[in-house]
Amino acid sequence: MRYLSTRGHSVPQSFCDILLGGLAPDGGLYLPESYPQIGRAELDAWRKLSYADLAYEILSKFITDIPAADLKALVAKTYTAQVYCHTRNGGNAAEITPLTKLEDGLYTQELSNGPTLAFKDMAMQLLGNLFEYVLDKRGESINILGATSGDTGSAAEYAMRGKHNVKVFMLSPDGKMSAFQRAQMYSLQDPNIFNIAVTGLFDDAQDIVKAVSNDAAFKAKYKIGAVNSINWARVAAQIVYYFQGYFLATKSNDEQVAFSVPSGNFGNICAGHIARQMGLPIARLVLATNENDVLDEFFRTGVYRPRSSAETSITSSPSMDISKASNFERFIFDLVGRDAAIVRQLWRKVDAGGNFSIADGPFAARLPSYSFVSGSSSHADRLATIREVWARYGQMIDTHTADGVKVAMQQRIPGETMIVLETAQPVKFAETIREALGSDPARPIELEGIENLPQRVEVVDASVDQVKDIVARHC
Ligand SMILES: *Cc1c(COP(=O)(O)O)cnc(C)c1O
Repeated sequence: MRYLSTRGHSVPQSFCDILLGGLAPDGGLYLPESYPQIGRAELDAWRKLSYADLAYEILSKFITDIPAADLKALVAKTYTAQVYCHTRNGGNAAEITPLTKLEDGLYTQELSNGPTLAFKDMAMQLLGNLFEYVLDKRGESINILGATSGDTGSAAEYAMRGKHNVKVFMLSPDGKMSAFQRAQMYSLQDPNIFNIAVTGLFDDAQDIVKAVSNDAAFKAKYKIGAVNSINWARVAAQIVYYFQGYFLATKSNDEQVAFSVPSGNFGNICAGHIARQMGLPIARLVLATNENDVLDEFFRTGVYRPRSSAETSITSSPSMDISKASNFERFIFDLVGRDAAIVRQLWRKVDAGGNFSIADGPFAARLPSYSFVSGSSSHADRLATIREVWARYGQMIDTHTADGVKVAMQQRIPGETMIVLETAQPVKFAETIREALGSDPARPIELEGIENLPQRVEVVDASVDQVKDIVARHC
């Protein structure tokens, strides 16, 4: 399998060549040259597989430059009941992403049973093992620099801790994350993990990362890399649980399901789109946003209008607080018939701070065939949904999952099987749970008291030079 850029300029690459990089050299995102097609016989055979075996079957269609036995071992080491052990609802940890039944035909799928209790572990844990394998083979090393407001940074650190030839420098806004989130990251004592708290906001931290990455000489000298949501391997890993959820919710491959996906950067639901293109019987993809509704607006109106930072709200589902959806270009590439010239033309506007509309062109007619519907939620909707799911089904859901459930309920068609992806556990967003239910969510036993563990963090001004100094000192 070869990979091409959504902007068309680069020569097709192999999986391992694009694994460690971010954007394609032309500024586009990588996608496989074509989506593997899964026929009925293969789907029938896959229904019986364990998660790890299913993951191997799917990933081996996209990763053809790692020997089969090695890939199988990497996948088997990643998707174990020990790594994804935090099931809460009596779910079978061996299923890795088990379903919780709310009522007939309505399920949540637990994607947040990994070490950091959010769905980013599903892909990031695999990324950690793939990075280590490829770097060892090539005798190379990488220094990952990132900025986080919570979930991504902790998932990256827990995936990369202790890995050879990898160091992680993670910037976070000083004092802006919850005590639990700070403890999750800052209590790590692994010598290859460096937490840097920046005096300022998340945007300041992200600007520093951009400035460092734009310094080509520094970037090359210190082998600076990233693990952000546009990384193709993360999208590929996420395809697997759509198949798993489908198999768990249905009895035969004649049935269809819908997935409702709490969405920010369009990474999670992009994997659902690809699973559907591969032939998984997904009737509809329900895209749920919070108040930051740039994607809901697109699917309702055909207008893609990225917001400024000033227009972006800080909400109680903060991991979906985005101003533009970095993976969305992948979907548009497919929508416009994989014509990179059109993508270049549309993103020339986006990159200049503008917007585009497909409402009046030839692509509007194609959009319905991708079967997306969408909706958005407010803080009040989240509180009401958390209360309703608790009262009706006895299940506690987090604020992001609540966005997914709210829009799923709104969009559900009688008789349709609906799977809402559970993207985080309620304990990560305890404050809003307390507001909704008046009580605190339960915490996995081994995370009791993590706030009291010694923390390792360096506090710096929002200064590019200070961050460069820290990187230089440790590399
Ligand atoms: C990252 C995240 C999301 C959004 O996922 P995208 O891939 O960016 O659409 C939703 N919920 C939680 C809890 C997250 O951490």
